[in-house]
Amino acid sequence: MTAIAASGPRAQGVRWDLSRLVADAGTARSLLGDSRLAAEAFQERYHGRIASFGAADLGAALAELAAIENAVSRVGSYAGLWRSVDVNDDEARDLEATVEQEYVAIANALRFFELEWIALDDAAAGALLEAPEVERDRHHLATMRRYRPHKLTAPEERIWAERSPAATAAWQNLFEQTVANVKVAFDGGDGARDHTVDELLAYVHAGDRALRIGALDTLYAALEPLTPVLAHCYDSLVADRLVDDRLRSYDGPMAQRNLGNELETPVVEAMMAAIEARHDIAHRWYRHKAGLLGLGRLHLADQYAPLGEGRSFPYAESREIVRAAFARFSGEVEAVSEAFFTERRVDAEPRQGKRGGAFCASVAQDADSFILLNHTDRLRDVMTMAHELGHGMHFTYAARRQTALSFHAGIAIAEVPSTFAELITFDYLMDRETDADTRAALVRQELESSFATVFRQTMMARYESDAYAARGAGRTLTPDRLAAFWLDRNDRQYGDAVELPDGYRFGWSYIPHFISTRFYTYAYAFAHLASLVLYAVWREEGASFVPRYLAFLELGGAASPQDQLGAFGIDLADEATWHRGLDEMERLLELAL
Ligand SMILES: [Zn+2]
Repeated sequence: MTAIAASGPRAQGVRWDLSRLVADAGTARSLLGDSRLAAEAFQERYHGRIASFGAADLGAALAELAAIENAVSRVGSYAGLWRSVDVNDDEARDLEATVEQEYVAIANALRFFELEWIALDDAAAGALLEAPEVERDRHHLATMRRYRPHKLTAPEERIWAERSPAATAAWQNLFEQTVANVKVAFDGGDGARDHTVDELLAYVHAGDRALRIGALDTLYAALEPLTPVLAHCYDSLVADRLVDDRLRSYDGPMAQRNLGNELETPVVEAMMAAIEARHDIAHRWYRHKAGLLGLGRLHLADQYAPLGEGRSFPYAESREIVRAAFARFSGEVEAVSEAFFTERRVDAEPRQGKRGGAFCASVAQDADSFILLNHTDRLRDVMTMAHELGHGMHFTYAARRQTALSFHAGIAIAEVPSTFAELITFDYLMDRETDADTRAALVRQELESSFATVFRQTMMARYESDAYAARGAGRTLTPDRLAAFWLDRNDRQYGDAVELPDGYRFGWSYIPHFISTRFYTYAYAFAHLASLVLYAVWREEGASFVPRYLAFLELGGAASPQDQLGAFGIDLADEATWHRGLDEMERLLELAL
């Protein structure tokens, strides 16, 4: 282990060095100016010409676009990363504002390219797609055209776009403001003070049961009077989206999202059906957890009740665990991971003015990715470190093979390498950790997070389907109807293993995904379960799995999820595939019981 940054408790002193990306704010600004000029020159040169492009022209244009994309991403990431560790820094804020402004100008200058490319007829586009000059961006070019059969005429598209601030954004804003303005008095143990929705929800992790239940009751009571407005926002958006589907000839309310995720409808259906056939895995855990808490039956508020989190993990030890876990998987992966630390591409120290949480920023295809952590020496932090390094691994490998336009995977694949990295770390820790409480905490942590991702996200997609079906049949989405759909889907998920409080009939009302992006959630269930499937394949095949996994990481966004995972001999449309992942969840459950 290379000791680069000295680290005391809570990752003291572990800060990243952003000068690897851009020397300073002045350099960032001039790079941005150059990119704007390059984008305008691109527009000047190619606007109106795509229809007459040969393969060599297209190849050259793509290379220019990639160079612009790389430069802009590098500067944008620099500003964003800087701001994330110093949210109050004026210079960082100014730079970020400039970046946003320039982004818009650059995107406007480049927009014609996609429009002209999509406007090409299939024969002309097909011939260009076959050409070796565009080989590396073939999938990117092909997927840009996936919405083509659903495009309206140019004047229709313009009218549709111009009405969207009133028809769409207005309802979304009203929803956001209504939820954001919830401020309700609650006594969390230190006197009554105003709480937001998120603050009340956070009490589900509290040790005190009365506090947990009280916080949820307070939340639902505060939401109830708002539900007519919240339901009306949703009803208006759903009605509008159904019109959009009809005008664009989409086959059902999920079709647009599935196309966006590059997933065939039978694949999504096979996954959801498999998940719904295994709710008993969660029920068994809920019954067991009720016993551990000394309860006859688990209440909804007890779902994430703490049961102890084991020993603490100083930063240096977390690093060593993740390094060793990755090394056991592959020496190459270990080396890539170590470079994040030795090159000071990790900021792990929690401090004033730094944002919370964790993320891995891909930065750009011709730059290295960076990781933000807030390491507080807990077991959870070890897994978060592994998770973000998993993303970092994906970005590193994909950047080696793909262009700037092709290296980002869609959301169905993006969370696979991160979850997989957690799983190999889990595996390692389970082999090495001797403290019984810590082992138990680790298993519970993995199990409960997989339930939240796999079962809950799928349940939410089904709830949405019910709502769209009702609205499509001419029934207005009133609070009572939405409550009925919500409770029906939740009853199936929780069975009789969990007591749902009365107020839970308003549980649908504050969830932002339904409002911002329909059927957004199931891709997370997909990615989580797909990584459990890969984990099962790895445990079966051992070392021969590793080169195939590294080849998968190198694909980035250059193939569909089906093709990427198909390379492992997995058929996504077969329910049995998904049951392999669910079997892994069941194995975790057995360890937890
Ligand atoms: Zn992630």
